[in-house]
Amino acid sequence: MKGIVKESFARGAALRRDLPDPRPGEGEVVVKVEAAAICGTDLHIYNWSPWAQARVKPPMVFGHEFAGKVVETGPYVRRFKTGDRVAGETHIACGECRQCLTGNAHNCENMKIIGVHTPGAFADYICIPETCGWHLDEALSYEEGACLEPMGVAMHGLEAARVGGKDIVILGAGPIGLMAVGIARAHGARRVIVSEPVQARLDAAGRWGATHTVRPDREDLKAVVMDVTSGAGADAVIDYSGSPRAIQAGFSLIRKGGTVVLVGLPSEPIVIDVSDSVIYKEAWITGVTGRTMYGTWLECQKVLDSGHFNIGQIIAARYPFNEFESAFEDAINGIPGKVILVP
Ligand SMILES: [Zn+2]
Ligand SMILES: [Zn+2]
Repeated sequence: MKGIVKESFARGAALRRDLPDPRPGEGEVVVKVEAAAICGTDLHIYNWSPWAQARVKPPMVFGHEFAGKVVETGPYVRRFKTGDRVAGETHIACGECRQCLTGNAHNCENMKIIGVHTPGAFADYICIPETCGWHLDEALSYEEGACLEPMGVAMHGLEAARVGGKDIVILGAGPIGLMAVGIARAHGARRVIVSEPVQARLDAAGRWGATHTVRPDREDLKAVVMDVTSGAGADAVIDYSGSPRAIQAGFSLIRKGGTVVLVGLPSEPIVIDVSDSVIYKEAWITGVTGRTMYGTWLECQKVLDSGHFNIGQIIAARYPFNEFESAFEDAINGIPGKVILVP
């Protein structure tokens, strides 16, 4: 089969056409990949960042946001049969640790991630444990199915802030932040203020239903938030940017008793005025990783069924595997939305 391989300990990747077809072991299914989306994690691997160097062992096919069709099932597989349409859940949980046994498999103590620790989805076929398959709704295309995993991250962050009826700030309008804007509106958030320095992404946030859009490099975000909320501050700030400066500023934007949800991963420690921003405000701070298995998937399906959220809008570009370099350039250059690769 063919696949996009991280071959060497340097920037870039290579398209290989001589990879062995995967065979399913016990409890595993082989999925014919119909569409895969490029994630920030894949950009780390492509660019060979320190984050990737500490985790990925070349040569390996990468990519983890995908949808496709089951073509083979291993022994003891119960939930899937050949021909089923599936979307991929990235977490490979151990099923035995304290986290897994208490309903928190998405935060397993022995977690492996598809496309980081095990062969990924930028290939004709991928072999996954059946626990990493989600039945793809008939109303969704494979390309939309490939966007469900990051949609789950957006949803999981919003679930922690219970945004219905509230005035919220979303920091960062990358693909996950953009989907969060749409979900927040579908969930009935009253005002959704989006802060994002890339103009094209900020414009997209407006199309997704942001009530206020702010360029933090040109405007005073805090002044806007205070103005919009009559001086009180936002009910919740949800960070999808991972930017230390954005997160630092974010704590000053919540009202007393407000909530800060941290989703984006900062690359360095952040200094926060805990007295004024947390203690005197009696603030709630929550970290969120991935999406729950499978509560968040069910919540995503509800929003999709509502008709108030069109996941297809997030697809900004699509490329065949043999043009993967252009696809990665689009994603690196901050195209507003998701870049899809099709075998
Ligand atoms: Zn991802
Ligand atoms: Zn576990």
